[in-house]
Amino acid sequence: MKENNITRIKICPQCGKPYHDVPAISRMDNETLICPDCGTREALEKYRC
Ligand SMILES: [Zn+2]
Repeated sequence: MKENNITRIKICPQCGKPYHDVPAISRMDNETLICPDCGTREALEKYRC
């Protein structure tokens, strides 16, 4: 696979935005990969509720 050196851009299922950083795991189901921003937001929302 010659794509190995190319940074994969993924679409965050949470906010729908493309990201290429290390994904975070959603706290909703512990397996969905989301963007770091959403990962941080989920962590914060956990405290809000
Ligand atoms: Zn996101």
